[in-house]
Amino acid sequence: MSDSFARLGLAPELVRAVTGEGYTEPTPVQAQAIPFILAGRDVLAGAQTGTGKTAGFTLPLLQRLAVHGNASPSPAKHPIRALIITPTRELAAQVEESVRTYGKHMPLRSTLVYGGVGINPQIDALRRGVDILVATPGRLLDHMQQKTVDLRHVQILVLDEADRMLDMGFIRDIRRILAALPKQRQNLLFSATFSDEIRSLAESLLHDPAQVQVARRNADSELVAQRIHPVAQSHKRALLAHLVLSGDWHQVLVFTRTKHGANRLAEQLCKDGVEATAIHGNKSQGARTKALAGFKDGSVRVLVATDLASRGLDIEELPHVVNYELPHVPEDYVHRIGRTGRAGSTGEAISLVAPEESALLADIEKLLKRKLVREAVPGFAPGTASPPQTPPVRREQQGRRPHDGRERRNHAAADAQRSRSNAHAAPRQAPQMRPIGAAHAVAPAHTAAPARPAAPAHAAAPARPPASAHAAAPTRSATQARAEPHVPALLRGTPRRAG
Ligand code: AMP
Repeated sequence: MSDSFARLGLAPELVRAVTGEGYTEPTPVQAQAIPFILAGRDVLAGAQTGTGKTAGFTLPLLQRLAVHGNASPSPAKHPIRALIITPTRELAAQVEESVRTYGKHMPLRSTLVYGGVGINPQIDALRRGVDILVATPGRLLDHMQQKTVDLRHVQILVLDEADRMLDMGFIRDIRRILAALPKQRQNLLFSATFSDEIRSLAESLLHDPAQVQVARRNADSELVAQRIHPVAQSHKRALLAHLVLSGDWHQVLVFTRTKHGANRLAEQLCKDGVEATAIHGNKSQGARTKALAGFKDGSVRVLVATDLASRGLDIEELPHVVNYELPHVPEDYVHRIGRTGRAGSTGEAISLVAPEESALLADIEKLLKRKLVREAVPGFAPGTASPPQTPPVRREQQGRRPHDGRERRNHAAADAQRSRSNAHAAPRQAPQMRPIGAAHAVAPAHTAAPARPAAPAHAAAPARPPASAHAAAPTRSATQARAEPHVPALLRGTPRRAG
């Protein structure tokens, strides 16, 4: 059992649950927030996804509810006492799963309500009685209007990713929900950023809040090698396909600015022989869950996402994040690259930047307070008439891609190991300055034919078994790989239930 969690004041049932999850130490946000929440204080916390914030509010919340918890099956004995509101369906599903995981040794019930799926099963679940409700704002309002939810007994309110909820235009919905809650309650507000709007919401919501702030994740992390590839807009797709195929990348999260752009790019990548799928708000919940599951089990190599869709997805510690287009809001760049290089593992964040995006790049560099290194990829620099052809990928090659989860993890781990060893090789003062040759060390044809890099590599190795590229990675010996004490969990846990 983990003493450090018990020292925060957590009950043995909760300590047992987190120990079962393999956690040994509380994260900073947990260490700071848990004692305040256990003491019944309102809390204003600055923490992003990936900091362990969910357990930071869920563990003490469960403990406070469990004091009066009971195992009675009667719905009347289970009025909603804790309400957790999140901006997206995915985040709601993940939070509710955390509630179940951490609360598995306690007699508390939880359920999930979000839009895009049938309302009747949710009504049935609510009718059976739940102690903890996790909800997105719109669907919660639907239930309120239909009088299928009773919020009169809420003792604890959590607004998770409050900044994103405001970005998504939920402020009026939130205010309507707040108005339906009992005045006497504990309020917890978690937000990655603090705009004036968030501050004003916090002022009206929180009473004498304890403030918790943890470092922005990866804002300037040496673990993330950041590179800019200057490229004409019209050559970006060819460059991306080239990087993925020649680098033998797996589990690549690619950001576009628009839903339409995400769809189009995913389609084009598939035509180039790169298994890709798009995930964004226009897709049905079923389609989003399927896309995510495919990405996690390895049948989808590239997930193309918009910023909004990516928020709250439990996909972290990826070896490769690509900004296909720079975001308009520089903070989103930090959120995006925060998907890689976590928990002691290294990763790389690559931005394909067209000349017309130079102002956006300048804004990002201003936020980071440093210049990012530009590396033109031979054959793709702006001004190049036509980019090298994307290598034809033969069907049978694609068919051999590992779809088995274990093999996939090996691929992903090898990706990360390559990133790590590359990062080790890079000069410490400029981790983002990895020479382009090192990035492509696994594709020997690059050195032979830098001007048309991708095609020969693939043409030359049509019969390569799926794992061989990794086994042969020249930057890392097999012994080194075996001696590596920490193989990062590229995707934490198994694919999540959609609720
Ligand atoms: P979150 O920021 O809540 O999205 O959490 C990010 C991930 O960190 C989740 O997958 C958790 O399972 C994991 N996590 C939370 N707390 C800890 C901890 N104390 N030690 C290790 N992993 C943790």
